[in-house]
Amino acid sequence: YLQSMPKSETIKLREKHIGAACQLFFRSSPLKIVRGIAQFMYDESGERYLDCINNVAHVGHCHPHVVEAGRNQMSLISTNNRYLHDELVILAKRLVRTMPGPLSVCFFVNSGSEANDLALRLARIHTKRKDVITLDHAYHGHLTSMIEVSPYKLNLPGGPEKPEWVHVAPVPDVYRGKYTYPKDSKSEEELGKMYADEVGKLCRLAESNGRGVCAFIAESLQSCGGQIIPPHGYLSNTYKHVREAGGVCIADEVQVGFGRVGTHMWAFETQDVVPDIVTVGKPMGNGHPVAAVITTPEIAKSFADTGVEYFNTYGGNPVSCAIANAVLDVIEEERLMERAFRVGNHLLARCESLKHRHRLVGDVRGRGLFVGVELVTDKEKRTPATAEAKHVINRMREEKILISRDGPDSNVLKFKPPMVFSTQDADRLVDTLDRVLAELDGTRISNMTLEVRVTPLDDTSDKDVLRSNAQQAMKAI
Ligand code: PMP
Repeated sequence: YLQSMPKSETIKLREKHIGAACQLFFRSSPLKIVRGIAQFMYDESGERYLDCINNVAHVGHCHPHVVEAGRNQMSLISTNNRYLHDELVILAKRLVRTMPGPLSVCFFVNSGSEANDLALRLARIHTKRKDVITLDHAYHGHLTSMIEVSPYKLNLPGGPEKPEWVHVAPVPDVYRGKYTYPKDSKSEEELGKMYADEVGKLCRLAESNGRGVCAFIAESLQSCGGQIIPPHGYLSNTYKHVREAGGVCIADEVQVGFGRVGTHMWAFETQDVVPDIVTVGKPMGNGHPVAAVITTPEIAKSFADTGVEYFNTYGGNPVSCAIANAVLDVIEEERLMERAFRVGNHLLARCESLKHRHRLVGDVRGRGLFVGVELVTDKEKRTPATAEAKHVINRMREEKILISRDGPDSNVLKFKPPMVFSTQDADRLVDTLDRVLAELDGTRISNMTLEVRVTPLDDTSDKDVLRSNAQQAMKAI
């Protein structure tokens, strides 16, 4: 009863009626997922997958308390926020309580993209300026306004051109970025300052062209750029530059918020800063579309003073708010932040041990249940192991473990599981990854292994890449 038609039919209908730009995971052999429980998802044949990617199903897929809250409120009323409703104000009060002092005014919307779009609108109205500083490889949403500040999409061959009011700062990536360990022989604080000074330079550039800076927007830990943990002092020095130039600071917490980092509810807190505007989404509804912008009374007043009403049909409807309140209940009651800290530290330590065991593991980084493992073909040169990362993802799927990859070279394995992830799940993930990486280590030394490892790939170009790697390895032998 979990599917209306056989998988082959679903594929046919999807190809016919869904825009081809909407891409599937595992394109040549997609998964049909029909239900989820906690950190597990099930396909149409009942096969169970360990979900290590889904930061939206924050408190676990289909958490009964969240499902119940949505079902109850749906059976009472779902309407717009022009009527008073307790769920809306309770949610605002609870969210604000988790934020530092000045952030006390909320706007509710339906997605991370909408939240960032509204944040930009607030910043423009408040500063009366237009120029935005964003980080290279950043992604802030699919709306036209957000694609323009998302080098993740701007950098693609078919992507739109970068508008002149957008300034791109280097990613504060101390492994692969402009300033790195140990090449630049600097302390973490110094590297943080050097990266922040890059933003300072862009502030002066924007001032010199007579327009000035409106806003700096960044994820507090950049997930789309490849699970980047900025060096200490990066955001505090950056915010200083931006504020001195008269701009406001927007923290995009759409992926990394709601306790994922383990030590704090919000990832910006790990950098000791207080943004002017915070955007939250994804985990907030555990799969239901709800997001928010939280800002200061001054910025909210500038917006209200325009006299233009802000109306959003679904933003802050009672069903979405009841669901978001239930998500907050679960985070508190099941102490999921502490769990992210405990399980995340275990996962990180176990991944760290892989670095010493495998030729492909170049860097391991993370905070809480936000972890990245960067694969390289040469540890000295830090050459991205893009084809190998793709191979690892496919092999893990065969082992019924779902992970993804990211970063400008698509060579960073990305773990951001539901927060109910356990130490046993982390062990299973790392033990399996250990085995899969060992298979690839083998490609260096054994002819026979080379043949075996090349065959499972489903993509011709990757076969070619691996084959050429294999030939090089054979030459070396
Ligand atoms: N910001 C970040 C950091 C994101 O990762 C995303 C989605 N991947 C968005 C914004 C946009 O959110 P949505 O897809 O809900 O519009």
